[in-house]
Amino acid sequence: MNGSLSNTETQRPHILIIYTGGTIGMIENAESGALEPFNFDHLIDNVPKIKRLDYDIDNFQFEVPLDSSAMTPDHWVQIVKVIEDNYDAYDGFVVLHGTDTMAYTASALSFMLENLRKPVVITGSQLPIGEVRTDGEENLITALQVAAEKDTDGSPMVQEVAILFEDYLWRGNRATKHSSDNFNAFKSSHYPRLAKVGLGIRYRKSVMWRSEGNEPLRTHYSFDNHVMYLDLFPGISEAVVRHQLAAPGLKGVVMKTFGSGNGPTSGWFLEALKEAVDRGLVIVNVSQCDNGIVNPTRYLSGNVLTKAGVISGHDLTSEAAITKLMFLFGQGLTPEQVKTEMEKPIAGEMD
Ligand code: ASP
Repeated sequence: MNGSLSNTETQRPHILIIYTGGTIGMIENAESGALEPFNFDHLIDNVPKIKRLDYDIDNFQFEVPLDSSAMTPDHWVQIVKVIEDNYDAYDGFVVLHGTDTMAYTASALSFMLENLRKPVVITGSQLPIGEVRTDGEENLITALQVAAEKDTDGSPMVQEVAILFEDYLWRGNRATKHSSDNFNAFKSSHYPRLAKVGLGIRYRKSVMWRSEGNEPLRTHYSFDNHVMYLDLFPGISEAVVRHQLAAPGLKGVVMKTFGSGNGPTSGWFLEALKEAVDRGLVIVNVSQCDNGIVNPTRYLSGNVLTKAGVISGHDLTSEAAITKLMFLFGQGLTPEQVKTEMEKPIAGEMD
């Protein structure tokens, strides 16, 4: 651990904050005016109220705090390693993270932490913690409260990877960043909120994730990044599609389609997809619509994609779809096995 904000052994909630970077801890560079990540001490000095929570709080910080645009699977591994090493010693974990790729990290962590039975609450902010109107202080305090919350039987209220931002607690692998300006930066179109933050924090127990059985935590650390997005638009050319599908080493594609999972019906397009699938590529259909569930049998333009061998991503967010592909290939599965597993939920990421 890098540090502790308390010094007594008590029955108080014991929470570990993992600080990876993000706007929440940034300060303005005096010369360029650009926001740059800064260290955890600066961040915590700006939240004196934290001491009024009756919690024992320790922290672990990334050696170099990151703008989350620089996150890679190696950083996901680092976060999960810290959680695994400290799993028994803490009631819950708060991960401080930039908002830009928070939904990717949340999805990846949810797949990596099998049999998770403790809260992993990811938060950050739109304004740095040092600014007067910051949302960071409230988000951090609320995330700590969520991580400490117990159900009536004494078990953790939240037993999954969740994103806490402003007024809502979301399932992490269902959330998407939808605003770079609003304090309510995240939303989840296909899964209800886990809690609403108002005067109190109102939890919805009926929609919370609970791992089956009583197996201990099992972590998975491998990802395969030979994947990409293919984002469709009217007029997309054959040369561009074929070139992208021929990328060296490519194994999986998340294809962002129109509406309920539709795409061009031109012969060259369907042939290019079919050829790629026949070569062993896994192509997953997700909708470009925020609130779009793939229903490939609704229109001919969706049905032909299925015939070309494209599989349905149902209601997966694109963040969950691409991290899931990386995760499944990382487990050494064959393309056929990946196809089968893509259509089954791992951690509540799809219906
Ligand atoms: N670029 C920042 C990041 O993702 C944005 C933020 O934290 O809100 O690290």
